[in-house]
Amino acid sequence: MIPQHACFFASHNDSVCRAENGRELPPGNMLPTRRGFSYRWWLTAPGNDEALRSLLERADRLYGAPPESTYVWQDHQSGLCCLDAPTSRELLRLSRMLGMPARKLVAHRLMDHPALLDPAERRAYCPQCIQDDQAAGRPRAFRRTWARFFLLRCPNHNVPLQWAEPRLAAIAAPALHQALELPSADEAEILHLVDTFAQTLEACLWRGQSWPACWRGNAHAARALLIHCLCNLTGEEAAPAAAQLWFSPTLAPWITFPIRPVPPVGPAPWDSARRVGRPAWRRAALWMTAWQVIPKLPVRLRPQTIPEAYLDDSDRWWEQHRPSSHTQKSRRVYAALRNTCRPFPFDVT
Ligand SMILES: [Zn+2]
Repeated sequence: MIPQHACFFASHNDSVCRAENGRELPPGNMLPTRRGFSYRWWLTAPGNDEALRSLLERADRLYGAPPESTYVWQDHQSGLCCLDAPTSRELLRLSRMLGMPARKLVAHRLMDHPALLDPAERRAYCPQCIQDDQAAGRPRAFRRTWARFFLLRCPNHNVPLQWAEPRLAAIAAPALHQALELPSADEAEILHLVDTFAQTLEACLWRGQSWPACWRGNAHAARALLIHCLCNLTGEEAAPAAAQLWFSPTLAPWITFPIRPVPPVGPAPWDSARRVGRPAWRRAALWMTAWQVIPKLPVRLRPQTIPEAYLDDSDRWWEQHRPSSHTQKSRRVYAALRNTCRPFPFDVT
């Protein structure tokens, strides 16, 4: 095992890779150059299910962020958006840089998929898993599993996922293991409802599971409703439907949504939804959707302060604004989603 804090530092001009103690990197360790680059990263091998992006965050903390937003092992046009899924050629370069076989890195790749969060939003984590990493002397690692949009609870520890601010990426030892207080029985019941609904929706959308016979609509209609709650379907900046909810302070650490305007949904509405990474925000929209989809839920599981006709704001906006070339695409997306949502009664009383 190579210690994470080994003392070789990278040279950006490819002239020499020199150790902090004055020893030069043996010539045999020099890599073929690419645009003047040849050096090694000395990092602990990726942990179980660790995403490559997590490993690169560790590299950034040790060696600094890459200049011009592209690592030297990347093809120039890749940028930072493809860190989870390098091409085979990039992976080969990275493996040589890390001094480990490329086949070992393949398992840590995460090819993009609609079931996953947008690559830039994969910052959910399980505090218990991080605590286990630290107890075992491993670097804290973001798991690939946590990148799933509909996963809101750690499958190993059964605790709600939390959110790591991107600014913490640069901090060597952020307190990611600080677990929140356990939810009360009432809050736990709501979280269980949201988790179960999310897992069922994911299985029906992408794993061929049958839609529960007693639920309204179908999986695609439910996802359209979820987008309706999570995204802005008007033609100008506005807060999504989920922002209309008020959450009690005891529930807010787990389920909340900010009251702030966001741009109109893009031409690929699910991609806009995938850009909502915070588990608490996703839970808010999923809770609203579950309330519509699952009939006869007890009133205690009703989202607090859910307004009447809370989804009608976008209808009213389009009634009051004349179509223009500027809003043409947004209107088409709104109309398609509204049509897909039709199985739902929109009756929240
Ligand atoms: Zn865990």
